[in-house]
Amino acid sequence: MDTVRAQVERVLRADACSGCGACTLLDSGLSMRLDDAGYLRPAPTGDLDEREGARADFARVCPGRSVRAQHPHGAARHPLLGSYFGLWEAWAVDPLVRHRGSSGGVLTAIQGWLLESGRATQVATAAADTARPVRTVPVRIVSKAEALASAGSRYAPVAVAALATSDPRHALTAKPCEVSAIRALNDATSDDGPILMSFFCAGTPSQQATTTLVRELGGPGDDEVTDLWYRGRGWPGRFTASFAGGQVSTDYDDSWGRALGPTTQWRCKLCADGVGESADISAADSWESDERGYPSFEEQEGRSALIARTERGLEIILAAKEAGVIDLRPLEADRLAQAQPLQTSRRRFLAARLWGARLGGRRVPRYRGFALTRLSMAKPRLAIRALRGTYRRVRARSAHG
Ligand SMILES: Cc1cc2nc3c(=O)[nH]c(=O)nc-3n(C[C@H](O)[C@H](O)[C@H](O)COP(=O)(O)OP(=O)(O)OC[C@H]3O[C@@H](n4cnc5c(N)ncnc54)[C@H](O)[C@@H]3O)c2cc1C
Ligand code: SF4
Repeated sequence: MDTVRAQVERVLRADACSGCGACTLLDSGLSMRLDDAGYLRPAPTGDLDEREGARADFARVCPGRSVRAQHPHGAARHPLLGSYFGLWEAWAVDPLVRHRGSSGGVLTAIQGWLLESGRATQVATAAADTARPVRTVPVRIVSKAEALASAGSRYAPVAVAALATSDPRHALTAKPCEVSAIRALNDATSDDGPILMSFFCAGTPSQQATTTLVRELGGPGDDEVTDLWYRGRGWPGRFTASFAGGQVSTDYDDSWGRALGPTTQWRCKLCADGVGESADISAADSWESDERGYPSFEEQEGRSALIARTERGLEIILAAKEAGVIDLRPLEADRLAQAQPLQTSRRRFLAARLWGARLGGRRVPRYRGFALTRLSMAKPRLAIRALRGTYRRVRARSAHG
C-alpha cells in the first residue's frame, strides 16, 4: 500500500485538502505549511514516520478522501442538519463569555466548565497567535481564562486536528472536517475518544484575505498588527485589527460576506458536512431570518444554536445547564435550517456538484450516509443546473492550469 505521503500527494493534486492536519498524526514527518494561495497544506519536513496502520487508515480519516455521517442509535435525523439527540437556542450565562463568544459563547462556556469541573484536562482549539495575532494557531487550553482568550470564530486557516489525542479526558473544538477526521481516527463509538465539539462552517478563507482586508481598511502590514479578531465582542461583532497607531474595523457583512467568504478553498465548496455531524456537540449562529431565509446581522446579545449529536454530548449539555453555565431554550430544527441558507443549499445540491466535478475530470471526496443523491433528485432542474455549473468551472480551471 502507498505511503501516507503518496496518498496526501494525490489529495493535494485533486485540490481536495481541507487543511485539517490529521495526516500529520499519521506521519509525524509531515507538517502543516501555508501555501502560496494562503491555505494550510501538509508538507514533508522530516523523515517518513508513520504510526501503525497509518497507510490503511488514511482513506477513512482524511476528509479530502472520505467522510461518513454518524447515525447514532436513538437519534432523530434531519436531512439537512444531520443526527441529533437535542437541539436548543443557547447562550453563556456569564455575560463576559457571552459577549466575547462568536454568537452566544456556548462553546467557550462549555470548554471552561469541562476544564474547571475536571471532566476534561485539556481542550485543543484555535486562537490568535500571541506573537503574530494576524495568524491563527492551534492551542491546548487548560483553564477557563484560556478558554475565554480563545473565544470567537477565526476565518482563516488553522489545523487544530494536528493537536488531537485519543484520550477521553481530552476535548477538541474545531471545524467539522477536523472533527470528522478525529472521530474516524479513533474509530470510536461515541464515548471512546476525546470529547468532540464543532460548529457550522461555511468554509476556510485564504490567509491572504485577512492581510488584504486589514490593508483595505487602512491598517498596516501583518507584522505591525498587535491584535486581530474576526467577530465576537458583540453579536455578530466586528472584524477588528489593532496596531500602535490605533484600530481599523468593519462589520460582519463586509468582512465575511465581501472580503473573506469569497476566498474559501475548493474543498469547502464541496463539503457535505458543514454542520459538525461527527461531533458530540455542535454550535451555530441562531440568526433571526426573514421569510426568504435571509439572516439579520443587526447587533444584539449573542445567541447560539446548540446541537447534541451523541448521548455523551446530550449529557454534557444538560450537566452544563444544571451547573448554571449555559442557558437553553428549545429550537425547532426546521427553523435553524431556514436561518442557514448557505448550509442547506450546499447540501441540497452537493450530489449534483460532485457529479459535475467528476465529469470534469476532478477527484472528489466520497461521502457516505448523508443521503445526498436523494436531496439533489428532489429538485432535478436545479440539480442539473448545479451539475452543469460545476462541470464548466472545473473545466475552466483545468484549462487555465
Ligand atoms: C471558518 C468558520 C465558518 C463558519 N461558518 C458558519 C456558518 O456557516 N453558520 C454558522 O451558523 N456558524 C458558522 N461559524 C460558527 C460561528 O461563527 C460560531 O463559532 C458558532 O456560532 C459558535 O459560537 P459560540 O459563541 O458558541 O462559539 P465560541 O464560544 O466563540 O467558541 C468558538 C470556538 O471555536 C474555535 N475556533 C474559532 N475559529 C476556529 C477555526 N477557524 N478553526 C477551528 N476552531 C476555531 C475557537 O477557538 C473556540 O474554541 C463559522 C465559524 C468559522 C470559524
Ligand atoms: S484533508 Fe487533512 S488529512 Fe487530508 S491531506 Fe489535507 S490536511 Fe491531510
